[in-house]
Amino acid sequence: MKDGATIAAISTAVSSAGIGIVRMSGPDSFGIADRIYRSGKEKKLCEQKSHTIHYGYIVDQGETVDEVLVMLMRGPRSYTGEDTVEINCHGGVYVVKRILEILIENGARPAEPGEFTKRAFLNGRLDLSQAEAVGDLIAAQNQYALQSSVSQLKGSIKNEINDIRNKIIYHTAFIETALDDPEHISVDGYGEELRDAVEDMSGRIRRLLESFDNGRLMKEGIRTVILGRPNAGKSSLLNILLGEERAIVTDIAGTTRDVLEEHLNLSGISLNIMDTAGIRETKDIVEKIGVDRAKEQAQQADLILYVIDSSEELDENDREILRLIQGKKAIILLNKSDLNMKVTKEIVNQAYLSVYEDIGGNTSGEPDPELIKNEGNYAFSETDDNGEKEKNVFKLPIIEVSAKNLHGIDELEDNLKKMFFAGNISFNDEIYITNVRHKNELAEASEALKRVKESIDAGMPEDFYSIDLLDAYEKLGNITGETIGEDLVNEIFSKFCMGK
Ligand code: GDP
Repeated sequence: MKDGATIAAISTAVSSAGIGIVRMSGPDSFGIADRIYRSGKEKKLCEQKSHTIHYGYIVDQGETVDEVLVMLMRGPRSYTGEDTVEINCHGGVYVVKRILEILIENGARPAEPGEFTKRAFLNGRLDLSQAEAVGDLIAAQNQYALQSSVSQLKGSIKNEINDIRNKIIYHTAFIETALDDPEHISVDGYGEELRDAVEDMSGRIRRLLESFDNGRLMKEGIRTVILGRPNAGKSSLLNILLGEERAIVTDIAGTTRDVLEEHLNLSGISLNIMDTAGIRETKDIVEKIGVDRAKEQAQQADLILYVIDSSEELDENDREILRLIQGKKAIILLNKSDLNMKVTKEIVNQAYLSVYEDIGGNTSGEPDPELIKNEGNYAFSETDDNGEKEKNVFKLPIIEVSAKNLHGIDELEDNLKKMFFAGNISFNDEIYITNVRHKNELAEASEALKRVKESIDAGMPEDFYSIDLLDAYEKLGNITGETIGEDLVNEIFSKFCMGK
């Protein structure tokens, strides 16, 4: 996978800016830099100390191209682990391209996307999970995505995976040694000990797997659909959310579906409002697009924001929407709370309950005052067959808002956090899996460990244990990149941006 070439690329965005950085990495970086760099000093760059910055000019065939600062980092103490030179020049589109050209004319090869990070990985500066975190960090669209990628970059996943792998290898080694030397090493009772260890490792993997739901939402944002009758105030609400100072607005074409999404950032949480163009053009989503379309959108959504015009009585359209949102994560917004409210939280709760009963839901339990007090809005409890009190059957946050005077927006943000991240996201001791590839490898490792437990329970011979233990070891190694194939490595880095 290594070719020994010296690579070069523009590492900053190619647009007019204060400065631009052209980066070079590889054995001849210092040599190439010396051929094109001039300053009043006697010492060449290759004779200078590592991690120093030098002021001078880039010169091409006697002609000065730009005034620059050149940063030198000698391998292995550099990002890639190789000799690296970064040329800080003026950030004009032409000048950065010209400097890159000159580096190439003098012996560098244009870097492929992600090639600097790929070299960092191949040279052992980063494991694969950290290298992928670099890509995620650059792509981060919100505070949580940024925090989770920084935590992964620092090695949170790497450390956890390596720790589990070390335990696996310890047990595999023990089994192999014991089988080789049965006279001195006894495996009596070892099954029990291994079972406990596997139980512990499985638990750790399960916790990582469970973090993926939140991890995906942090990284990709919450797929959100806004439903509501015409004139309920859907566009007005969306506009004030988008227009607020704290909201960052970008139009991003959905990567997996060809749907235009509106991207909204509320106190660190990203909402990807799906197909809002459709919702905006079509005044009445239920009547015009049809229930099927709305259903489809509701099915795909992580969250439904259901906007009600509280100054008008509920009607059949509302019952239709209440049916659509059954079993989904939804927040009901009682909009126009600045007007005389004809629809209250209690009325919506009653309507929701009656729709719930219509579709066969059981509401025979008693609303639980304690739950209502603690969890807000509607909470419902019932007794199951064993006489145990079950927690709420459903509870939907219902928030009074006004697109006119901005009332209730903070409460909406609080509810989003509670709903999706149980109110608290901590990066201190919690690791969030944000990468589908990692999730799939963890799931396979978990299956392999399950087979180990089954073999122990079935009283199989010890060498059976090590086959599945080693399988888990390999699957986990794919996350850190230790056991991964060249094709996959190339595919992962090809998704990076140029110059990274
Ligand atoms: P949509 O059809 O659901 O997108 O509704 P619009 O956003 O177009 O709003 C319909 C009408 O209600 C417009 O005249 C808005 O100005 C008005 N409206 C929206 N939100 C509020 C609100 O909170 N209070 C009041 N008083 N009027 C609102």
